[in-house]
Amino acid sequence: MNSSPRQISSVGEMQRFSLDARSKGHKISFVPTMGALHEGHLSLVRTASERADLVVVSIFVNPIQFAEGEDYDKYTRDIEGDIQKLSDLNVDVVFTPELNDILPPGHKSYVEVTGLQDCLCGVFRPGHFRGVATIVLKLFNIIVPDNAVFGEKDYQQLKIIQKMVNDLNLDIGIIPAPIVREDSGLALSSRNCYLTGEQHKRAGSISTALGRIKKIFEDGTTDVEKLVEIGVKILKEKGIDDIDYLEIRDGNSLEEINSASRGNIVAVAVRLGNTRLIDNIKL
Ligand code: AMP
Repeated sequence: MNSSPRQISSVGEMQRFSLDARSKGHKISFVPTMGALHEGHLSLVRTASERADLVVVSIFVNPIQFAEGEDYDKYTRDIEGDIQKLSDLNVDVVFTPELNDILPPGHKSYVEVTGLQDCLCGVFRPGHFRGVATIVLKLFNIIVPDNAVFGEKDYQQLKIIQKMVNDLNLDIGIIPAPIVREDSGLALSSRNCYLTGEQHKRAGSISTALGRIKKIFEDGTTDVEKLVEIGVKILKEKGIDDIDYLEIRDGNSLEEINSASRGNIVAVAVRLGNTRLIDNIKL
């Protein structure tokens, strides 16, 4: 039977909970989120509950991963609604730290995963991944999980966290979880609610373009320039003109490539009005 998860807002209390759980031999699986939970987040939670005895979900809208002029202020905050959604699942703790406890005035330490943080979204969202890595490391240090689940939806983020964990010798397993999509193919996102009905409809072609690139690759075209050209053409035909990038890169190092092969990642970021959407597909 499921019951409402315990909400912990204090960093000290979260640390004590984790210490106590670990001393009793429990394994903790952790799902970091910014809230505004949807079925994509919930799928991560289900994966987490298969991988440990205890599941901790954090909800923290991280200001230092938003660049100047982005949607930090208008980002959906609905902790009550989120906890309600989690109460149907096996979640033990929802960690909802206060901004001032995570980033007190005078906070000066940051984590950078150089190279990986600088391409794709890093070009268009300066400081974004430094903000993500810093806060994820802080959450890891507070919760000390055995493993943590990250969605492939944010593929570059997943690669950065895997690299950080490896480079900094953190004893935490990183579990990737597949992208959850609407029937139209549109990847679920907390930002989809910003879209007008008409933009929402157009947004369905982002995954169409990715799927078409994969199909053409499977049919034998490996020239990256050609594959990207085809993808951009489809997006434009469907009325998506504002493209931050559509690139095919190595699936691990995210380095540029000229000839596509299995395991490479096709990643895209577009803007529909003021809403920025990302998606990807593995070849
Ligand atoms: P966010 O709340 O947007 O920071 O996302 C929290 C976690 O949920 C990240 O690991 C995301 O990659 C993951 N996530 C977001 N959307 C999806 C989706 N549509 N499918 C799978 N995972 C997702």
